[in-house]
Amino acid sequence: QLILGIETSCDETAVAIVKNGKEIVANIVASQIESHKRFGGVVPEIASRHHVEQVTLVLEEAFRQGEVGIEDIDAIAVTEGPGLVGALLIGVNAAKALAFAHNIPLVNVHHIAGHIYANRLVEEMKFPLLSLVVSGGHTELVFMKEHGHFEVIGETRDDAAGEAYDKVARVLGLPYPGGPHIDCLAHEGTPDLDLPRAWLETGSYDFSFSGLKSAVINSVHNAEQRGEKIAPETLAASFQASVVDVLVTKAVQAAKEYKVKQVLLAGGVAANKGLRTALTTAFNDLKDVQLVIPPLSLCTDNAAMIAAAGSILFDKGKRADLTLNGNPGLDISIHN
Ligand code: ATP
Ligand code: MG
Ligand code: FE
Repeated sequence: QLILGIETSCDETAVAIVKNGKEIVANIVASQIESHKRFGGVVPEIASRHHVEQVTLVLEEAFRQGEVGIEDIDAIAVTEGPGLVGALLIGVNAAKALAFAHNIPLVNVHHIAGHIYANRLVEEMKFPLLSLVVSGGHTELVFMKEHGHFEVIGETRDDAAGEAYDKVARVLGLPYPGGPHIDCLAHEGTPDLDLPRAWLETGSYDFSFSGLKSAVINSVHNAEQRGEKIAPETLAASFQASVVDVLVTKAVQAAKEYKVKQVLLAGGVAANKGLRTALTTAFNDLKDVQLVIPPLSLCTDNAAMIAAAGSILFDKGKRADLTLNGNPGLDISIHN
């Protein structure tokens, strides 16, 4: 079985071909970061225009790299949402055009389901499992009792982890996207600054990062007023320590309560070295839970993850018709 995956939800135009839901045959990502950098964030209109320019080229490149033709494809999996509506529409329409022209089944995929299924390209999934999703727009703990079943047991009440990283990076004068820069800086400093951790109510698996973000900004301003300056490495290390502490603690608690067999790390912030190390250490002590962490290239947006999720949904009989539209607010819990 060969699935073609198409992903254009944000600022990456991505196409991949995946065999049997697990094996990457081709994986092409055209990033637009350079075009958005000078604006300090993704500009939706620019993103859509780039997707239009890139999508055909990226498709051709994927077929070239995979050494397969469109006639070999069993289904086309495309990101339906969530994301930027204008960006989503480009991928959805490319997928619909190919599906219609070549009479190939079409499968709509939730972007976060894709991030979670990136793990299936690394390791077979064992249920029940828990996924810690940490990305630019999402921070949530998702419980899965079987393929295609997603239950959000906790989520952020304000900023997503990646969003907090990018906003703090801005305060430190680092380029967009700031996550990787803070990660590097954090490793050069020590977490000496005492920053808050939002544990919320006992037993809650929800998150909150806006208070932490404000605390970092206040620390910088208060130091300035005293005519002092906190070393950026110290700020980065302290901020990262706070984020990682909460994410790891809640993931461990949830893994125990839900008695899961696996914990899957997912989303762009899964590329964070501090988070990867802390999770690995924490789950070393939990012998009956297997921690799976995807390689860096499968953490940030790509289409192999969409094809991997699409493969399972296709096997379960899920199909989209040509009325499929981009859905910026798509809910994962009804996605099966
Ligand atoms: P979503 O998946 O929620 O729709 P998105 O697709 O924009 O959002 P991703 O591409 O999954 O988000 O992840 C991008 C985010 O990951 C950015 O906020 C970026 O700063 C963050 N990120 C990437 N690498 C790292 C890192 N090493 N440390 C921390 N954050 C990182
Ligand atoms: Mg992105
Ligand atoms: Fe994403």
